[in-house]
Amino acid sequence: MKILIVGNGARESALGVKLQEDKRISKIFFAKGNATTDNIGQNYFESDIVSLRNLAIQENIDLTIVGPEAPLVDGIVDDFRKHDLKIFGATARCAKLEGSKAYSKKFMQTYNIKTAKAQVFEAYHDAIAYVKNHDYPLVIKASGLAGGKGVVVCEDVLEANATIHKFMIDRIYGDAGIQLVIEDFLEGYEVSIIAFSNGQKLFPCIPAKDYKKAGKGETGANTGGMGSAAPSPEWTAENQIDFEKNILEPTIFGLQEKNLNFRGFIFFGLMVTKNGCYLLEYNMRLGDPETQVLMALLENNLVDTIESCLNGDDVELKFSDKKAVCLVICSGGYPQNYETGFEIKGTDKVEHSTLLFAGASREAKRIVTSGGRVLSLVATGDSFDEARDKVYADALPIHFDYAYYRDDIGKF
Ligand code: ATP
Repeated sequence: MKILIVGNGARESALGVKLQEDKRISKIFFAKGNATTDNIGQNYFESDIVSLRNLAIQENIDLTIVGPEAPLVDGIVDDFRKHDLKIFGATARCAKLEGSKAYSKKFMQTYNIKTAKAQVFEAYHDAIAYVKNHDYPLVIKASGLAGGKGVVVCEDVLEANATIHKFMIDRIYGDAGIQLVIEDFLEGYEVSIIAFSNGQKLFPCIPAKDYKKAGKGETGANTGGMGSAAPSPEWTAENQIDFEKNILEPTIFGLQEKNLNFRGFIFFGLMVTKNGCYLLEYNMRLGDPETQVLMALLENNLVDTIESCLNGDDVELKFSDKKAVCLVICSGGYPQNYETGFEIKGTDKVEHSTLLFAGASREAKRIVTSGGRVLSLVATGDSFDEARDKVYADALPIHFDYAYYRDDIGKF
């Protein structure tokens, strides 16, 4: 059996490591992959849809799994299906639930999915009038994709006015700011739940915690994720019931009613407040770094689970009782400007964790940094402390110029 994984992050490395346990797989292609995936399989350096489709046809790929949102939004799933190629992921129409915050907010409101009260604006003056007498903080979101930077929590009307101006008039994120979603601020902690979809139903994984901010204690700039832990330690049985009743089930109903049924992953970004869970956003894909900890704990065979979903069958997900922690090591300066091309040393001394490269590539015999989030270290243990001790012990010998990581990941 041959598999193609689209993407080049530690998320895709984690999928590759998980698939290595399946002896039926003879070869895995990664497009474009990284310094971990070229050890597991073969990296392929084209990433446009036509090249990937041709690769899948020429190599008789049995299954393609898509990591990032861009190829989904661009219609890779629609294209592969047209050519009778088996692929797991959201169609372009479904990917709109992630690509347009205005569309997804309207979807949530239509199907009574528990979410922050919000309004969608297309006219600058209407948005300015709305924020004038509103309570603060207030959250202003550019509707389109803005690389995680299009959300501002405004403390007062001055900041709100300036943000609306930047998004709608200055267009600092281009067309992403044509529409705005302005929503009430929710206070609580965030939890990520990823579910497999079989076209009719959704099957949620255990909840995970993503550490989004660059600095210790969730301070500083937003990043793609500085680490993760699963199962989310704060999550209660009551939260699970609330999530299933007020978010998961109405989402399933809405997807069916809108004929948005798809076979792929859906990610629920949740805020847990004193009044229960609220849905902040959908991503129509696996999260990074959540995937790293989920794959470390998932006991099901991944290909069988995906094939069951593709056949429209139900799946029963099983996760280990252990705890998992993922630590991300970054380039100095990330998420702002950073330099790349530094040699990464000491990775041969990693003993207790799984090393998953992301922004790292092979140059002759050296591995050098090539992105902001350079690598993930993932470990499991009977307790978070045990898993945490393993990743931090393995982080010590790893060295490249200006490397940095948070020292509070998995600490509860
Ligand atoms: P990501 O980069 O995770 O994909 P995004 O840019 O698509 O995020 P959201 O997830 O909607 O946008 O918001 C980004 C972050 O802003 C959230 O993870 C959360 O920390 C914060 N946030 C969003 N909405 C609210 C809200 N209503 N109340 C409080 N914080 C919020």
